[in-house]
Amino acid sequence: MGRSHIVALVLAIAGAMLPGGGRAAQAVPATPDAAACLMLPSPPPGCVDALVQAAQAQLTGDPRIDEAYRYAIGERYARKLLQLSMASFGEIHEHTATAYNFVAIFVQKRDPAEAEAAYARAIEIARQAPDNRIRLTIYLRNFGIFLGRLSRLADAEAVLREALAVATVARDVDQQLKARLELGWLLTRMGRTDDAHEILLAGVALAEDKRVLSDVSASIYLALGDNFQSQSRYSDALAYYRQALAMTVKVSGENSRAAADVYVVLGEIAARQGNSAEVRRMQRRVYRIRLKTLGPRHPTIAASRFNMAMTKWRTRGGNPLPELRVALKDIESAYGADSEEALNYALALTHPLHSQGAHVEELAIEAKAVGALEKRLARTDPGMISKWIELALSLRNHERPVEALVYFRRGNGALIERIRDSSRSPALLDEYGRKRGYFRWQVATEWAVANPE
Ligand SMILES: [Zn+2]
Repeated sequence: MGRSHIVALVLAIAGAMLPGGGRAAQAVPATPDAAACLMLPSPPPGCVDALVQAAQAQLTGDPRIDEAYRYAIGERYARKLLQLSMASFGEIHEHTATAYNFVAIFVQKRDPAEAEAAYARAIEIARQAPDNRIRLTIYLRNFGIFLGRLSRLADAEAVLREALAVATVARDVDQQLKARLELGWLLTRMGRTDDAHEILLAGVALAEDKRVLSDVSASIYLALGDNFQSQSRYSDALAYYRQALAMTVKVSGENSRAAADVYVVLGEIAARQGNSAEVRRMQRRVYRIRLKTLGPRHPTIAASRFNMAMTKWRTRGGNPLPELRVALKDIESAYGADSEEALNYALALTHPLHSQGAHVEELAIEAKAVGALEKRLARTDPGMISKWIELALSLRNHERPVEALVYFRRGNGALIERIRDSSRSPALLDEYGRKRGYFRWQVATEWAVANPE
């Protein structure tokens, strides 16, 4: 009777009591192994923990392994868990809800319709267990993030607001912060800068009040920085980004993936301020961290290569097109050619195309990317407004004033709508004033035709 046997016994009891019981399944040899459970036509109820653990491992697993590959394996465990839980415990049971939630996550990219139905089942089952609100808020948040990715922004908002309300009633600080973070990002995307600001600021107050130092609380500071950046308030953005960095370094270390995310935005601010030495320093740092933590084939590596080639071209000139085209192809195959990520990189390519004299390709890419983004972004999203105006200016610079006017009107109309919606925000009025001045200067003739105010 060694010491390890006693430890195993203690873990077995803990595993029986805790939902999921992750670590216990590994330590106790008697617990059936997930791969074996997968092979059984009718696995015993004892397989639940092993299957939950195996599905979770694919979800949070090694990011250097391709996500599609991990999720295909995870889906098999999740479906087996669903089959087992339905047979052993029935539809209305927490294990069945867990299984539906896993199935939804694993299939959401491949089959959004099935994912939506599975999220709805998980949420409905969780609603019937009033003593466990944590699960309900987790499923609601996952569903809200999923809807946001599908650009169903109003639906996403309603679901995330419910997640926040449930977490607030349950007094779960961590879940409240997570819900506020997702809601803040979504509202910023919708162009509702003030609403996002309010939601995130309350998150910061809560984190400070409860002295929460975690990756989530650091992300709330990061999101507030993004919120300021979307209003072109760069020094305010920088203040929050610096706080986010200090917290992230404490929580995860200065060479962590989370820290790399903060270096990305610090590089963006440096670019706005024209500090190209700092931009290069940040980009190299992000590249090194991602290469080490995510491996050479992760999609963000191609994005890093693209950004570094752009910076090299901006500071040293030369012909960056061959390098940029290769990186863009990799980005498109990783995220999908119609994804917001790929479209934004395609738009960035138009600047070097212009300087290399490839104007036909430049304008074709710009019009196509802006058209595709119109289907993905909200009309009053600050990013969308900028894209319309930039396309208008670009068309005008290429002697195509009639088309320029179409996009100028579209961007200007959305901007006016955005200002009306947020009339109480001095920051937005300031942004409007500056943008309007910029338009007047750039498109004086078109402005007079479009806006006889
Ligand atoms: Zn051009």
